[in-house]
Amino acid sequence: MRGVRCQRCGHMFSLSVDQVVAALDRLAEKSESHYGVECPRCRHLVKVPRGDLERMRPRPVESSAEATAMPTSPAPSETPE
Ligand SMILES: [Zn+2]
Repeated sequence: MRGVRCQRCGHMFSLSVDQVVAALDRLAEKSESHYGVECPRCRHLVKVPRGDLERMRPRPVESSAEATAMPTSPAPSETPE
């Protein structure tokens, strides 16, 4: 999982899978190249390039029935790329 760095305060944070998917949906609708994400620390609107979102998007896994049954949980921060 890739992180997003706030350009204002330098805070690093990561987007949840839900956020990434929603962001890509939004970009596809508006045909924009950046998605604005609010920094959790200073509320600055951080622009995330579409390419970064594409990399953060989870790979489609067809045989994981348990993944869809899991409740929304925070993304693991130590996932290797
Ligand atoms: Zn910030």
